Amino acid sequence: MKFKTRFAPSPTGPLHLGHAYSALLANDLTAAEGGRFLLRIDDLDQTRSRPEWEAQLKDDLGWLGLRWPEPCRRESDCTADYDAALDRLWGMGLIYPCTCTRHDIRDAANAPQEGIAAHGPDGLIYPGTCRGKTLSERDFSKCHLRPRGVTLRLDMARACSYANGAENKTEAPNRMPKSFANFHETGHGPNGETGLIEVSADTLVHGVGDVVLARQGGEAAYHLAVVVDDAAQDISHVVRGQDLFDATQIHIMLQRLLDLPTPIYHHHGLIRDDMGKRLAKRDDARAIAKYRTDGATPQEIRRLVGLD
Ligand code: GLU
Ligand code: ZN
Repeated sequence: MKFKTRFAPSPTGPLHLGHAYSALLANDLTAAEGGRFLLRIDDLDQTRSRPEWEAQLKDDLGWLGLRWPEPCRRESDCTADYDAALDRLWGMGLIYPCTCTRHDIRDAANAPQEGIAAHGPDGLIYPGTCRGKTLSERDFSKCHLRPRGVTLRLDMARACSYANGAENKTEAPNRMPKSFANFHETGHGPNGETGLIEVSADTLVHGVGDVVLARQGGEAAYHLAVVVDDAAQDISHVVRGQDLFDATQIHIMLQRLLDLPTPIYHHHGLIRDDMGKRLAKRDDARAIAKYRTDGATPQEIRRLVGLD
């Protein structure tokens, strides 16, 4: 079977043991399958991305023994690809402008009639405040250009109807089959999920909601970019942490809407610190660079993350 995977770090801080595990595991699986391993630079967040961090992460990965073809894909170079995908979703009437601030969302989600505010993969589930506002415009969206400089959200209920092939694009999601898409999981989700994982309209609408696909500054959001990139790079297997397991259902939905293939997913367990907390970029104590200056070998790093 074809095997092509990628490691896609953000150059916003030092790589730590958790990154080393993810990259080494992806590379090991690639070697076992005789496949290809790519490095992709997720620098969509231009306010936090730094060339120094990119240089450092490449140096660390090279030191760990990883090799990848250069030049590698850098997301900030690919805005035309994301714009094309956003234009297409806009033309389908599936994304809408949202002018809510973080505060607005928190207040609306906590309003008494909303019950207990629910959280999805991106934090608080968007209460839908702006969804109806431009409905009349959206019905004619094919004649209108996509607005710039404003947050754009996916209308998840409409998206479910669309992905389900509904004639009437406003068909209620609860009239849809329980599961309308799935993906193959060769690793495991946070609750041990493995095998064929079903994605249900109910979870997408009520447990995920209207996720952001473009940010106010005009840049694509992670969910959109990752789906466009994986397809552009012909990725057959996605290897990443199980913290992204819940986001995968969003990616499957976007692949459906944009007619893109769905890779096989391998979510792996997270490397935690001694207190059981998952490592973050700010945990500089676990930075690969720190281990290197302390004289560790790449083999020792492999052992530390449980790969030997
Ligand atoms: N840049 C993303 C991250 O570091 C990539 C996630 C992915 O592999 O899809 O979390
Ligand atoms: Zn809004």
